[in-house]
Amino acid sequence: MKVIEGSLCSLAPLRFLCDEMLNGLAQWLRVAGYDASLPARGSPDRQLVDQARVEQRWIVTADADLLEFACAPFYVLHLAGRDEQARLRELTRRLDLDWCFAPFSRCKNCNTPLYLASDREIRNFHPGVPENGARKVLACSTCRQLYWEGSHVQRMRLRLEAMNSWRDAR
Ligand SMILES: [Zn+2]
Repeated sequence: MKVIEGSLCSLAPLRFLCDEMLNGLAQWLRVAGYDASLPARGSPDRQLVDQARVEQRWIVTADADLLEFACAPFYVLHLAGRDEQARLRELTRRLDLDWCFAPFSRCKNCNTPLYLASDREIRNFHPGVPENGARKVLACSTCRQLYWEGSHVQRMRLRLEAMNSWRDAR
């Protein structure tokens, strides 16, 4: 297991609280299978820090102001990259993050763990989606989003693998 000096967060498995500017990055963490929360819109920084401490999450932020909190070395990962690609790369290198940790085990939209949808659910709620007899279909109980191995999911898998190659490129 990788140990990050100074961290008081549980590192196995990694859990995150992304600031509201990093919605896209949070979605990629969820696609890879990590528990990645977003704060309620407009939450004050103090509330963000308290939530991270209670829930043992890394705060992933592009906001350098959060580094001024005394607990910052233990809970705050400040990403200096200017765009999402640069920030994803920085996060990968700093945590040696495995993007193939548990792909498609959480909902990209709302962070809920996914379950295997029944054929009946698929027929009733999403006609047109291939049934589980043919393909595995995963569902989110919160937002009802379905995921199956179509071209969109395949593209995201390729992207996860590509991001994992940054771990070696040191
Ligand atoms: Zn969902």
